[in-house]
Amino acid sequence: MSNVLVTGGAGYIGSHACKALKAAGFTPVTFDNLITGWQDAVKFGPFEQGDLLDRARLDEVFAKYKPIAVMHFAALSQVGESMSEPGKYWRNNVSGSLNLIEAAVAAGCENFVFSSTCATYGDQDNVVLDENSAQYPVNAYGASKRAIEDILRDFEASNDLRHVIFRYFNVAGADPDGDVGEFHQPETHLVPLMLDAIDGKRDALTIFGTDYDTPDGTCIRDYVHVCDLVDAHVLGLKWLQDGKGSRVFNLGTGSGFSVREVIDHSREVTNKAVPFNEGARRPGDCTKLVSGSQRAIDELGWKPERSTLKQMITDAWRWHQTGHYDA
Ligand code: UDP
Repeated sequence: MSNVLVTGGAGYIGSHACKALKAAGFTPVTFDNLITGWQDAVKFGPFEQGDLLDRARLDEVFAKYKPIAVMHFAALSQVGESMSEPGKYWRNNVSGSLNLIEAAVAAGCENFVFSSTCATYGDQDNVVLDENSAQYPVNAYGASKRAIEDILRDFEASNDLRHVIFRYFNVAGADPDGDVGEFHQPETHLVPLMLDAIDGKRDALTIFGTDYDTPDGTCIRDYVHVCDLVDAHVLGLKWLQDGKGSRVFNLGTGSGFSVREVIDHSREVTNKAVPFNEGARRPGDCTKLVSGSQRAIDELGWKPERSTLKQMITDAWRWHQTGHYDA
């Protein structure tokens, strides 16, 4: 049996990854502490509750399932919070990942797929960021993810733990079948916050900063559909199974959209007004993050199929109206 240990499998991206893994013939074993994840989202394989800071619990789960690979999604991921509580990010993300890596090595598991982030690149104005771009994170979230990338390189050298690192740009959308979707509490991400504002579940959206050096003054991001993103993970797993070497891949589309452009697309998709106001910059935000993602297309054979902004908002809106997890 091809078990894959999916940390954070009860979260937004991890739950979509579990669905994709199952469809590809693997058994996704979710390991999640349920602090930000939802047990309702674990639908495609076994569930083991546990925390990455608990090494004994990790060892138990590795012994029970003997996974052929780890897909590591579990992390704290709020940029703003990482600026006000950096210790939380270094402890959870870095110490937790180190435990997981050491447990994988101890169990003889040699394939590791890691969800990293474009936040490791930091603010590099007007540059399309490819995998060779320098990494200068400007927030503790990005810094913690960069540190984990370094740890993986060291463990490859010492223990032959091969890895695929994916640096995500901005993930949006939801499973078109409605099995799983995006549900954070508290929510901090642009698309779900905007959809909440549209249907009155919360007050107006605040645009964080309108004085950036961009054509309309708001930050520019590269949005990628969660289903395309997790498809790349399955390809990354196969890459490692084929015995190929450790590799870093960006996952984005190469097209940037400003916050105001996302608002405009949402108005078109939902046919409703988007209540918003203009506020101050959010600490830790970069002006522009746009991916050079050709490597994943050329080398992994990745084919992003749903990553137009319109499709992402359409799928997110469908989930927003019909799907939820019980808190
Ligand atoms: N954003 C915003 N208002 C919000 C939440 C986000 O203007 O209430 C902006 C944020 O400043 C960034 C973009 O939307 O430029 C995407 O932010 P998000 O938190 O979704 O993802 P991040 O880029 O931080 O990973």
